[in-house]
Amino acid sequence: MNQDIKIVDTTLRDGEQTAGVVFSYQEKLRIARLLDELGVHQIEAGIPVMGGDEQKAIAEICHLGLKASIMGWNRPVIEDIEKSITCGVDSVAISISSSDIHIEHKLKTTREDVLERMAKATEFAKKEGLYVSVNAEDASRSELAFLIQFAKVAKSAGADRLRFCDTVGTLEPFITFDTISTLIKETGIAVEMHAHDDFGMATANSLAGVRAGATYVGVTVNGLGERAGNAALEEIVMALKHLMGVDLSFATGRFVEVSEYVSRASGRVLPAWKSIVGKNMFAHESGIHADGALKNPLTYEVFQPEEVGLERQIVIGKHSGKASIKSKFAEYEQELTEEEAGILLDRVRSMAIDLKRSLFDKELIYIYEDMKIHG
Ligand code: MN
Repeated sequence: MNQDIKIVDTTLRDGEQTAGVVFSYQEKLRIARLLDELGVHQIEAGIPVMGGDEQKAIAEICHLGLKASIMGWNRPVIEDIEKSITCGVDSVAISISSSDIHIEHKLKTTREDVLERMAKATEFAKKEGLYVSVNAEDASRSELAFLIQFAKVAKSAGADRLRFCDTVGTLEPFITFDTISTLIKETGIAVEMHAHDDFGMATANSLAGVRAGATYVGVTVNGLGERAGNAALEEIVMALKHLMGVDLSFATGRFVEVSEYVSRASGRVLPAWKSIVGKNMFAHESGIHADGALKNPLTYEVFQPEEVGLERQIVIGKHSGKASIKSKFAEYEQELTEEEAGILLDRVRSMAIDLKRSLFDKELIYIYEDMKIHG
């Protein structure tokens, strides 16, 4: 497995293609800056040929002086690539389907025509000095022999890498590993994983691709993207670091800030249970877990909350134990006896069941005061 992994963020392209999501001009610039500050290697900034505000925003992003490479998305059409060049991008994605279902029913053409269009556009872009990713759309449903041929043609036309698109999210990790291994062995082309989350496996499939030798991973903040979304930036970076031993030196302490910003800008609420950045990541309620986490956080946490910009939270509710109650009151400099903690715990449980939720600190204080006054 190659350790030199590059993160390609497409929040501004695939993320914005999510049904109902539109970023304003200012939001696009802000998101690009944030991605750059996090450490993203390449930002797919949008689709220049759409013109108007989209084109203006991409051009402006190119002039922000970011460290990241800026990529424009294109059909294999010369006019598209010329628009990308006008914006000032240093790299282009040239996208065309490689699956027969897309070639026959969407493009209504032949495999030969697909190869020819892709090669022509790639040669043009390379002549213009651009970095080129050839995107095999619907790669996961393509015949492997044809996909290999597609990658070979792309490579000889000068493509710098192949984006392996799991356009409809039908990969599973074991098949991904085999397919990407074969593709790289047969063609030697650099591969980017671009996975969708229709079956909840975008992150797993992307990492399986990395294990098989893919060196680029396409992501979006919060996993935003068409239908069920893409692989999430924060999940990929943290999984590479903590599960696969690849530390990309991202400013991970700002993940929550960036996730919340994109959540607001996209109008998509960040669920409390969202992997890596959800506010429940470090919230413990059950007695056994909270007791363990209080004694040593490593018992029930893999990394420190500060590492992504979260805070640990002991939630008091139906599943709490005495250790949690004591630690909660200790936060308010109130030391409880064993007996007091026991009495409070009974009352906390019945109140939490009545209310069908955990309790606010204020409510705990009322319960405590009632106990002191009425016994
Ligand atoms: Mn996509």
